[in-house]
Amino acid sequence: MRFFDSHSHLQGARFDEDREAVLARAAAAGADTIVVCGEDVASSEAAVALDARTDHPRLLATAGFHPHEAAQATEDALDRIEELARKSPVAAIGEIGLDFYRDLAPRHVQRQVFDAQLAIAARLGLPVSVHSRDAEGELQPHLARFANESPLPGQGRALGALHAFGGTLEQARKYVEMGFLVSLTCSAGYPRNDEARLVAAGLPLASLLIETDSPALPPQARRGTRNEPANVRVAAEVVADARGISIEAVAAATTANAEALFSAIPAMEASA
Ligand SMILES: [Zn+2]
Repeated sequence: MRFFDSHSHLQGARFDEDREAVLARAAAAGADTIVVCGEDVASSEAAVALDARTDHPRLLATAGFHPHEAAQATEDALDRIEELARKSPVAAIGEIGLDFYRDLAPRHVQRQVFDAQLAIAARLGLPVSVHSRDAEGELQPHLARFANESPLPGQGRALGALHAFGGTLEQARKYVEMGFLVSLTCSAGYPRNDEARLVAAGLPLASLLIETDSPALPPQARRGTRNEPANVRVAAEVVADARGISIEAVAAATTANAEALFSAIPAMEASA
């Protein structure tokens, strides 16, 4: 069985001591591809550097400013993200979005920086990896503009992933209608997370992705520890249980969905 971990932060300092061992465990667990997401310029550059690694598992980089870092996203810094994404084989612009739970940057700044990065993604024809917390209902106007400007729908491709989705099934359905995929984490298995299991059961399988968001959101049995991509199987199990289907079916569908979403990357490598 092959799994596609569509969101992680493997370039972070919490993996500096044992990153190769973490990657070996991921490979042994069938986590064939792992997306490594940027949160600012330095972490996006570090993700791109990891992407150049040729061993198994395959690593794909994204570049972008997390909403927590939005106050640091000067015009110059956003230009560097765009340049990085132009010159390197990044799989998506991300992670970008709105976080009205921790509010680490003023909300109007978060919105401006989100829009600026959606515009970069539209210009480059890249999908986006979207973070939202206590802002699931607020994404709509931003994402609707992106849906209009992006060339991806015209190519029959999805617009991006709503990562670690924490909203309602009704909200998830709206974003699926707009052309986004919805990504669930191991936290969908937490006892109080009934809504995530409704999302897992209620969306078409063709609209779902799985991820670990490592080092965050470890499986229920390992709460309080560092999460790692080898645990992506747990997210697949939660989705399989919620839908009453096999984990093999979830692994196959979510891998195919993720491959199609991030498919610019093999194409760029092939032409290089
Ligand atoms: Zn993340």
